[in-house]
Amino acid sequence: MDGNDRIEVGAAGGGSAAIELIAGDITTVRVDAIVNAANSALAGGGGVDGAIHRAAGPDVMAELRARYRGCPTGGAVVTASGRLADHGVRWIVHAVGPIWRGGEAGEAELLASAYRTSLRLADDAGARSVAFPAISAGIYGYPLDQTAAVALRSVRDALATARSVERAVFVLFDDRAFRTFERALRAIAESA
Ligand code: ADP
Repeated sequence: MDGNDRIEVGAAGGGSAAIELIAGDITTVRVDAIVNAANSALAGGGGVDGAIHRAAGPDVMAELRARYRGCPTGGAVVTASGRLADHGVRWIVHAVGPIWRGGEAGEAELLASAYRTSLRLADDAGARSVAFPAISAGIYGYPLDQTAAVALRSVRDALATARSVERAVFVLFDDRAFRTFERALRAIAESA
């Protein structure tokens, strides 16, 4: 990792937390909680959602069906982690980001809310480390550079009041996403 892939940010109680970027597949990352980019029906889909459900196995979808009737855009719900528990993941936070409709339909606030809510739910559960994908940046069409700015700012701000989360890892699936987040992280570090 070079200096562009990690920043320290203020955390609750005057301590510090870290935001890190890694390139890869979120289903292979060893953290306490991973965040899924779900749809509001919590019905399963392609992209990162399909990959997480395939890796976790059918218990996670069964829990979603049993406990929740969908989730509004900007919200999130928590389940156990199914087979991802084999490598230490304890919770999956299913977050619903907005579909990009041109930027004038409240997308930025809804995306920020999806990140904030996910971090708060992971924190309430007791997670110390959380991994996020680039919510809404795939099938939902949110422009990647704007996703990165909203994601990093909202997670940085939410870390400031988190009680247990001390490490937030963004897992970027391709090189373009990684480089875009890297630029946005640098901009945030310089403006801090
Ligand atoms: P959305 O419907 O919220 O746009 P997608 O799953 O289509 O969700 O895409 C969100 C982001 O997740 C995209 O940047 C996509 O490249 C990325 N992605 C897809 N599969 C994975 C994976 N296994 N791990 C991490 N990120 C992934």
